Amino acid sequence: MSKESFLSSLEKIVGKDNILSAEIDRVAYSFSAYNIWSKPDFVIRPAYPEEVADILVECSKNGIPIVPRGNGTSLVGGPISSSGAIMSMRRMNSVLEVNPDDMTATVEAGVCLRELLKELPEDLFFPVDPDGLCLSTFGGMVAENSASPLSLFYGTVGESIMGLEVVTADGSIWELGATIPCEGKMEKLFIGTEGTLGVITKVKVRLRRRPLRLFGLTVDFSHVGDALDLYSRLSYRGELMLGYTIYYRDIFEVHLPDERLGARAYTIIPHEPHSLVEFIKELSEELEILQVDVLELDPRILPYWKGNTYLMENLKTTGKTVNFVSFTTNSDLLHEAVSRIDHVGARMKLNTVTIINPGLNWILTGFSYDSLDNKSRERAHKAVEMLAQSLEELGASFGYGTGVGFNMAGLKFKELDNEALYKKIKKVLDPSGIMNPGKVVLGD
Ligand SMILES: Cc1cc2nc3c(=O)[nH]c(=O)nc-3n(C[C@H](O)[C@H](O)[C@H](O)COP(=O)(O)OP(=O)(O)OC[C@H]3O[C@@H](n4cnc5c(N)ncnc54)[C@H](O)[C@@H]3O)c2cc1C
Repeated sequence: MSKESFLSSLEKIVGKDNILSAEIDRVAYSFSAYNIWSKPDFVIRPAYPEEVADILVECSKNGIPIVPRGNGTSLVGGPISSSGAIMSMRRMNSVLEVNPDDMTATVEAGVCLRELLKELPEDLFFPVDPDGLCLSTFGGMVAENSASPLSLFYGTVGESIMGLEVVTADGSIWELGATIPCEGKMEKLFIGTEGTLGVITKVKVRLRRRPLRLFGLTVDFSHVGDALDLYSRLSYRGELMLGYTIYYRDIFEVHLPDERLGARAYTIIPHEPHSLVEFIKELSEELEILQVDVLELDPRILPYWKGNTYLMENLKTTGKTVNFVSFTTNSDLLHEAVSRIDHVGARMKLNTVTIINPGLNWILTGFSYDSLDNKSRERAHKAVEMLAQSLEELGASFGYGTGVGFNMAGLKFKELDNEALYKKIKKVLDPSGIMNPGKVVLGD
């Protein structure tokens, strides 16, 4: 089928206005949060699950790759298509139901967190805010099984999912999580698989009660190892923490140019912090703590932490972008993983930004580079490759929270059994291989 007749068959589904193929539109959809440029052939904007179904059937018939896109806040080039179509989910943006009695809400997949929070009673909230500005859509968050600092206490997005509506490549619309014998199992298949098995069109989430009081403690260290050790000591003490995140290295380049500052830990607790502050101060000599600050937070306002804001402001000011890698490893290997990141950064002469959530064994790290300078861009890609190989030796698992996206597509790793099974499932659900090709399975 020619491109023209293919596009005219899509126009019959969503109307002419909802197919964008002008150069300016293709550029507008060519990147996500960190500048990965790859223009799609066109963008399609459905408003109903039935339209999503018809689009997927047309794309399957014609072998056209299709990549769903929420708000494009991915750190790893998730919603990018090097050819074929982007399916923008932002027209599916209704909050369908809020049920304060059973503490659930149902939204269309293109609703972003900010839009849901506006509709909730003051005492309820949804606790995972991956980008720090409540801009991520529920479809994107489910597809990435997003995490954020409060995931230490509340879990990842997947742990708050009660049900999903999903459309698969053959045009079937599935309501998953209903009261049937396999209740609460099948929707899990679509959580964290980066839109490669189906398009999420509706999401039912569990809401949480807002804490009555919240305190943020900022602890500055000379050495990142001490920030990791403090987490171990606080958890051994049985301290109730909603989040504990370490911001490390060049994330502070512009905003906190104190030369002694090596790492900053930010923890959030739901009770009076006095005794905790005393405990931390007592450790000062042993752990080289530079400073401890306490701030009472307004529990009604997300985000509760400022680290992502440092990151964004810093990058805006320096005009740089970052090639990110997200991974988990055993807790006793976190120190080693951090030193491997430093080693690769130093070897490739690139600054690193690293965010560590020790309670989740999770590290999000990246190499910053000048996006207009091809040589530094190539060095950053090489650095990702080197780091990934080095972390594989440590038994790291890649893509936690953020997915692997385009950043890591093409890297070769040894195949694990769960990857082999995933490939079989993918073949059944998406036999033409059109759904978000190249994501999830590294080196596929
Ligand atoms: C400053 C900053 C900090 C961040 N920190 C974190 C963090 O701490 N933890 C974390 O997890 N993430 C983090 N992110 C990444 C990002 O916020 C999350 O990955 C988020 O879930 C993406 O949501 P989105 O709507 O923007 O999705 P997009 O970026 O548009 O898409 C993300 C992926 O989901 C797929 N997708 C989108 N919608 C659907 C759908 N309806 N059906 C099927 N697949 C779909 C896309 O194809 C793509 O693969 C951060 C981002 C920024 C900018």
